[in-house]
Amino acid sequence: MKAQPPASHFIDGEYVEDTAGTAFDSIYPATGEVIARLHAATPAIVDRAIAAAKRAQGEWAAMSPTARGRILKRAADIMRTRNRELSELETLDTGKPIQETIVADPTSGADAFEFFGGVAAAALNGDYIPLGGDFAFTKRVPLGVCVGIGAWNYPQQIACWKGAPALIAGNAMVFKPSENTPLGALKIAEILFEAGLPKGLYNVIQGDRSTGPLLVNHKDVAKVSLTGSVETGRKVAGAAASQLKHVTMELGGKSPLIVFDDADLESAIGGAMLGNFYSTGQVCSNGTRVFIQKGIKERFLSRLKERTEKIIIGDPMIEETQLGPMVSRAQLDKVFAYIEKGKAEGATLLTGGGIPNDVSAEGTYIQPTVFADVTDEMTIAREEIFGPVMCVLDFDHEDEVIERANGTEFGLSAGVFTSDLTRAHRVADRLEAGTLWINTYNLAPVEVPFGGSKQSGFGRENSLAALNHYTELKSVYVAMSPVQSPY
Ligand code: NAD
Repeated sequence: MKAQPPASHFIDGEYVEDTAGTAFDSIYPATGEVIARLHAATPAIVDRAIAAAKRAQGEWAAMSPTARGRILKRAADIMRTRNRELSELETLDTGKPIQETIVADPTSGADAFEFFGGVAAAALNGDYIPLGGDFAFTKRVPLGVCVGIGAWNYPQQIACWKGAPALIAGNAMVFKPSENTPLGALKIAEILFEAGLPKGLYNVIQGDRSTGPLLVNHKDVAKVSLTGSVETGRKVAGAAASQLKHVTMELGGKSPLIVFDDADLESAIGGAMLGNFYSTGQVCSNGTRVFIQKGIKERFLSRLKERTEKIIIGDPMIEETQLGPMVSRAQLDKVFAYIEKGKAEGATLLTGGGIPNDVSAEGTYIQPTVFADVTDEMTIAREEIFGPVMCVLDFDHEDEVIERANGTEFGLSAGVFTSDLTRAHRVADRLEAGTLWINTYNLAPVEVPFGGSKQSGFGRENSLAALNHYTELKSVYVAMSPVQSPY
């Protein structure tokens, strides 16, 4: 098989198999071909991974941040050197075109190792607090064993975005990738080990929604960081809360992208297309509700249609391909069901909505799709579709569009295109979202905090802010004179 790893799990510095776990296949979405066969973790495998992490963590935490950082930076270098091979694996895992994975997946993972490896020596300091003669200081201490649970849209990036801050802060990690994309995280574990990470500190185990709770509920786990849907977030956060564990929740969205009539039209269309079709629309922060000011509606729609119909769909391993298949048949069916709902509820299908020509019949392909005349109550405007389906809504005024844009339970991201500087900032201030983009969309460099508000989650990944979610403060009070006791 094309991408069979040596074994299903990576624990304590080596590949481990346990055939007692439920067998499952990894499928290449472009052809439907089985590319690897793996086994879900049994409770014994979960215990083994957590025990290895627990054993290794103390010594790792006692190392200097500079020494830990050196290993992470070495991992970043290895990832960059092997970018082509890792990108091909990411394409096999997800079906995303190589044109994307080569610039966006292992490279953004490597950025995380480089960034956290580089800043740790300065960013993990505590504070000195003068108290007259006495004083106090704070220490930033690791949490212990952290669990990462990933979604299937950015398997390598998610494995690194969780692993890098956890490790640099002195924690150990047990990571469970999505059952749809089990391969990339194993390579990340291998590379960290090759870079010199002591064994036991980054473990990968396989499994699905029945395996996740074994990790979340384990008594030796201090923190859970999930990337997934709101529904899963509620379950995982609920289970973690009942045991007072730390959590980071990176969940779904239905983000607004607002285009005012003074915007650079071509740039706004480019932003809307990137924010709906990149990764075949499987991006949590996508601007799937595109609000267009009425004056530019017709021009916007006609150019959008023209540009969308030129998108090159096909074999993801060919450099020219711009849109690959969806990750799985189940996700494809879900997206087609939403398209039917959009039509039934009266939205205008501007383009797409079907299966493209000239693609493998076994592949899970779908045309990039645009609905116009979408209204706020329609299902396609309220629920996360997680596919290449853009909903275009019209608006008249700034106050109106802000109220409508905020009228959702989600709050992951938002965007505004306008050439009026003060309006851009005014609108960005009033939109309820964890990340706002002005005159661009979906850029998420490691230096900038990323995460959601409202039902889209809490906690932040990337940037120095992520370190707050993988450490806790210990305060030490130092008395400089004898205790004055009234007793
Ligand atoms: P999902 O919620 O179905 O699964 C996510 C992960 O959680 C998988 O690994 C799954 O096995 C695991 N899981 C499921 N039930 C669990 C449980 N009860 N306990 C523990 N683990 C459990 O999500 P998905 O379909 O893999 O990914 C798509 C979703 O992820 C979308 O909603 C998308 O918006 C979201 N997402 C969010 C971000 C972000 O950064 N905010 C990034 C990518 C994807």
